[in-house]
Amino acid sequence: MPQTSSSSSKVYTERKWYCHYCGDGPLSCKFDDYCPVCAHGRCDYCQRVKMTYTTGR
Ligand SMILES: [Zn+2]
Ligand SMILES: [Zn+2]
Repeated sequence: MPQTSSSSSKVYTERKWYCHYCGDGPLSCKFDDYCPVCAHGRCDYCQRVKMTYTTGR
């Protein structure tokens, strides 16, 4: 059996955003429509970022 390097690691991309009002973050685009700190709703001025996670071993 050839010992190929395991390809069990997965890459997850999650979208996050930062409150442009108070700078809180990263907040989840999925679960947080409002900033928990200042209750500002996500708007066009809020910075969005894409976070990439690698899991597996
Ligand atoms: Zn905020
Ligand atoms: Zn905003």
